[in-house]
Amino acid sequence: IRVRPLTCTETRRGDRQVVHSLGDGTIHVSATSPLGFGGGLWHPLSCHHPCAQVSAAKHDATFGFSAVFDAGTSQEAVFEGSGMRQLVEMAIDGFSCTVFAFGQTGSGKTYTLMGPLAQTETQPAAPGLLGLMQRSFTCLLEQSQSRGSGLALSASYLEVYNEQVRDLLSTGPPCALPLRWSKTRGFYVENQLSVDFESLEAITDLLLQGSQRRRTSAHALNSHSSRSHALLTIHIRSQAVSTWGQSITPTTRVPQPSACPSKQGTLCFVDLAGSERVKETGSSGELSVEANNINRSLLALGHCISLLAKPRGKRTHIPYRDSKLTRLLARSLGGSGVTLMVACISPSSRCLSETLSTLNYASQARRVTTRP
Ligand code: ADP
Ligand code: MG
Repeated sequence: IRVRPLTCTETRRGDRQVVHSLGDGTIHVSATSPLGFGGGLWHPLSCHHPCAQVSAAKHDATFGFSAVFDAGTSQEAVFEGSGMRQLVEMAIDGFSCTVFAFGQTGSGKTYTLMGPLAQTETQPAAPGLLGLMQRSFTCLLEQSQSRGSGLALSASYLEVYNEQVRDLLSTGPPCALPLRWSKTRGFYVENQLSVDFESLEAITDLLLQGSQRRRTSAHALNSHSSRSHALLTIHIRSQAVSTWGQSITPTTRVPQPSACPSKQGTLCFVDLAGSERVKETGSSGELSVEANNINRSLLALGHCISLLAKPRGKRTHIPYRDSKLTRLLARSLGGSGVTLMVACISPSSRCLSETLSTLNYASQARRVTTRP
């Protein structure tokens, strides 16, 4: 769980801080005063949770998690304390690893993953502010160099916008790519670009170029709100694998999985578009169509997770096919992957209901087990 600081606007209008980290992975939300409480609870990710039906104004709630980072926590401390470094190492060892950032719009998802860099687009962020992604790239490239043979690295970057999958590395006008399924590969995106890289500068550039192509629009809660879900995947292969040959040009199509058994790990970063109540963000017209699509896919994600959270014997069919997002994440959610979920929340009294929903949802996601 990551709690962001109160923003200047929130402080200026006198929002109270209702979220407190108690240490030891425990977080307390005090909702004793109705001040600033914004009405009934509604959150696309938590509709299956009984708490979502209860008025938050009557509650003081305490939750326990693997780690809680309060408003003063540095980006570095989040990287080290969240298990992100271990996740990078597991990806190098051949596992499918995923990190998700989820939470309300404006709760700090993009900041946690990328730092403030991607939002100003003008000057590079101070090194101390770099997010989980850049820190993981550094770790990956250091590991690659320290291993004699090095690793073959490539990246792909997609967004799901209005239920369409788009390639963020493609330089042409945005066009929808087909999402297919096969017995051997599971769900995959056809004609997705994959770009080889060898240096930190190269992958940082890809991240910047791609995130600038992402759909964002300004609305009441966040002036650079991401309107799409973005998935950056790093493919990691041991250099010894000959199918990943010498003749590869800088830009190639994603290779078919090779027949020869080898270590092929992936590290996927998922920046989910924020959940939001259409009324609160002042969305209308095209924006509300976007909001409804975002909410629909988050709802599908929440549904899959609540089914996955059931004990293994009691699990029914998991409806991954309900949205593009859940199809793309099927392997991370229920397959053989290792997944780190970072739930971002605002400490403000105005965000209380969304915060409680995110915490309920995160508690549920904790119960999902996969078999890496
Ligand atoms: P989201 O991606 O969840 O919509 P953002 O990451 O864009 O939210 O964050 C919203 C605003 O809050 C941005 O201006 C961002 O710089 C700021 N912010 C978020 N998290 C932090 C943090 N931990 N420390 C300082 N500022 C933050
Ligand atoms: Mg964002």
